[in-house]
Amino acid sequence: MKNDQVEKIRKRLTALRDEIRKIIEWKDTASGGDGAMDEIDQANELIEKEMGFVRSNNMMANLKEVEEALDRIERNHYGKCLHCGQEISPKRLEVLPFARLCVPCQEKLESKGR
Ligand SMILES: [Zn+2]
Repeated sequence: MKNDQVEKIRKRLTALRDEIRKIIEWKDTASGGDGAMDEIDQANELIEKEMGFVRSNNMMANLKEVEEALDRIERNHYGKCLHCGQEISPKRLEVLPFARLCVPCQEKLESKGR
């Protein structure tokens, strides 16, 4: 994967991490009025659009995925399947920037889980 592609993804992930944090903080304090609600809706929208995240109460898990992806970028491990070590296709990473597994490994995992 080219450096500028990784950099683009890093920026997206960073923005996303901030949005998810915003939502988590908002849930923690739960003191927001209607204005805060609007902001959270916007954040939710961005997250859904960017990542195809299901809107859920599982924001902490989402945050962890994003942070791990950022960590992999920092350590220059980004874009490699954690299972088989093959490069994950840039197309897949564009759709799912925090993907940990390549498509074949992901499919294997999912068919096993069912
Ligand atoms: Zn793999």
